[in-house]
Amino acid sequence: MKTQTVIFGVILVVVGVVVAVVFGATSVTGRTHQIIPAGGIGVAILGGILSILGATAKAESQTEQFKCQVCGAVFGSDIALKSHTKDKHGSKP
Ligand SMILES: [Zn+2]
Repeated sequence: MKTQTVIFGVILVVVGVVVAVVFGATSVTGRTHQIIPAGGIGVAILGGILSILGATAKAESQTEQFKCQVCGAVFGSDIALKSHTKDKHGSKP
């Protein structure tokens, strides 16, 4: 989960909805700018997608979980870490 992405997505949703409602409402008065409310809805949808992606994303920080407890080296996978630990520090996890 990427919290920043989720927050950014939620902000986009709110901004998009507000834009759609505000400009959608003003279009009722006759001064129609149909592109603006549609754009607001588009931004809201984009924000929703971003939120979902952010919430479901395997955070990049997860790779930091595979960190050698001895020397602090970071690896992209558990296998790489175990291999490193075995080779460099001679201990079997
Ligand atoms: Zn190490």
